[in-house]
Parts: sequence; structure tokens; C-alpha cells
Amino acid sequence: MIDIKSKNLTEMTAFFKEMGEPGFRAKQVFRWLHRGVTSFDEMSDLSKGLREKLSATCYINSLKVERKQVSAIDGTVKYLWRLPDDNCIETVLMRYKHGNSVCISSQVGCRMGCAFCASTLGGKVRDLTPSEMLDQVMFTQLDSGEPISNIVLMGIGEPLDNFDTVMRFLELVNSPDGLNIGMRHISLSTCGLADKIDLLAQRKLQLTLSVSLHAPDNQTRSKIMPVNRSVCVERLMEACHNYFKITGRRISFEYAMIDGVNDSDAQADLLAGLCRGMAAHVNLIPLNHVEESPLKPSRRVKEFQRRLEGHGITVTVRRRLGSDIDASCGQLRRKAMQQQ
Ligand code: SAH
Repeated sequence: MIDIKSKNLTEMTAFFKEMGEPGFRAKQVFRWLHRGVTSFDEMSDLSKGLREKLSATCYINSLKVERKQVSAIDGTVKYLWRLPDDNCIETVLMRYKHGNSVCISSQVGCRMGCAFCASTLGGKVRDLTPSEMLDQVMFTQLDSGEPISNIVLMGIGEPLDNFDTVMRFLELVNSPDGLNIGMRHISLSTCGLADKIDLLAQRKLQLTLSVSLHAPDNQTRSKIMPVNRSVCVERLMEACHNYFKITGRRISFEYAMIDGVNDSDAQADLLAGLCRGMAAHVNLIPLNHVEESPLKPSRRVKEFQRRLEGHGITVTVRRRLGSDIDASCGQLRRKAMQQQ
């Protein structure tokens, strides 16, 4: 069966032509799909014959709510979705004054092995498809009844490890005939796959690139992020400089503050040095404690922030949303897996 919702308009047009249908049908179907219909029978302006033909060759992906948790503190909603093959993924809806934002997953699990992250504990099961990524945005919007204006690719998985799918997802979600979410309203977070950052730079998209740095020196970074053993800090920085030069978009460095691991003044000074020359912005994240991990949240967030600011770096400290509902990476999926 063909995953029709993963097709872009060009592919869809070719597909309909092959079936001997006029090209304009492609746009009609594309629009229905991107409004969240789950069966061809709902496409009321298509003939019965065409609907039957489509049902016989294609499927329309959809997600089922497996669990939904709403934070009593800030209204953050966490969805655990069940995929057609019974795997589960998470999406988080965050409500801000400037609009609603969804944090979506790009893979079932993750193979990057970061020491502080719950998403990677069971390894990677499989990549998501473009329609499965799009559906997280679409079904969150349909379920909550609220428009989504921003997307962050910061859920389960490493988006650049599923590069082609993520590029297709961006194209779909950005489409004027689809959800039409502007690239400037999308952030992509990566653990630092430098070659893929180089590839992304070539696309010259106006999205925001967040790089999960978490340590400014190779010794520390290799300890908490295995990816650093093959892509060292110097190579990662080269890719970041290159990305900034080509796209003109400033990079955001994510830095989860871990007690006694990456929170020293010397590391703040090193981090400031790395940010120079590309107007980078640092986002300090109070570590979310993961039960399986011995790592503890740092108590030096304020001091570290001031030290960076002393070097003229722009620093923000991430607000903790949904702390009462396991809203951070992979925690809910992990619990559901353990209960099964
Ligand atoms: N694989 C991508 C995106 C997913 S993780 C990446 O590495 O960027 C989204 C962000 O949450 C990353 O910055 C990640 O390092 C961070 N993160 C993961 N576990 C965390 C934890 N326990 N506490 C704080 N931040 C965490």
C-alpha cells in the first residue's frame, strides 16, 4: 500500500496522471489529507469510482491517542500516540503567549546514546515516515482544537539521522495547500551530525537550528554524548560556522546543566569562546532527572549564566513546562513500554 500523505504535490500530480486522472485531482486530495481526513470516503468531491480506486492502492496514515496528559500547572499537553504498527511516539503541545507550539518526534527511539536522555534507553526501533511526522502536528491541532503556529523538532529521535524524511516533512508542513507553517516558525534540534548540518546548510532554509552542545570540551562531551567520539567539537563548530555563513541564521546552542559535569566557570569560558564569530545564542536547560541515570541537575545555573553574559553572550534559561506530566523527552513512552 502507498503512503499517500507522504507525497508532495509534484509526486501526487504524477501519481494521478499515471492513473489517467486530471492533474487538479492531486491538489484536491492533497488538501483533504492535510485537513486530517482519515478515509477516502470523506473526500466528497471525488467520484465514488476514484475513491474506490484510491482505497485499493493507498492508505491514509493516522495516529491514535494512546494516552494524553494535561499539566495542571501550565496547560502543557503530552500525547502518547500509537502508530499503525503498534509502536508509540510522543508529542508535546506547549501554550505560550505568542501562540501554540508542538514538539514532535522524528524516530521511534534513538540510537545516539546521550547519557542524560530517556529517549535513547531502548535504542532506535525505526525511522518515522513524513506522514507520521506531519500527523503529530495535524492531530494535535485537531484534538486540541487550537491552531499550531510553531514546531520544534525536539521530541524523540535525532532528526538529522532521518534526513530525507525530515526534509520531506518540512516541505509538507510548509505547503500553502497544507498547514502552511512558515520555516521561521520551525526549529530543528540536533545532537551534532556535522555532515548532515553541512547538507542542511545547502538547502538554505530559514528554520532555526539548535545544536545540543552540552559540553564545550571533547573530554566531557565524549563522556555524555557518544556522537562526539566520531564528530569532535572542532568539526561540529566548523559545521556551525559554515551553517551561519551560508544561511545567515543564528544558531542556538542547547546546554543541559549537569551537576559537576559541565557547569564549571572554566567550561563557561570555553563555551563563550566557541560562540564567538557566529552570533550564537545559548539556551541553558535545567537537567530533567531521568530515573535510570546517575546524573543530577546542576545547582550553578545562575552563576553559569552570569559568567557567559560577562563574555557578551546572549543566554536564556529554558522554562520548565509540564514538569508534572513527564513532558520531557521519551519519559512517557518509556513508562508505557515498561508497563507493557
Ligand atoms: N536528537 C535531537 C533532538 C531531541 S532531544 C538533539 O539531540 O538535539 C531535545 C533536547 O533535549 C536536546 O537538546 C537534548 O539534549 C535535551 N535533553 C535530553 N534529555 C534531557 C534531560 N534529561 N534534561 C534536559 N535536556 C535533555
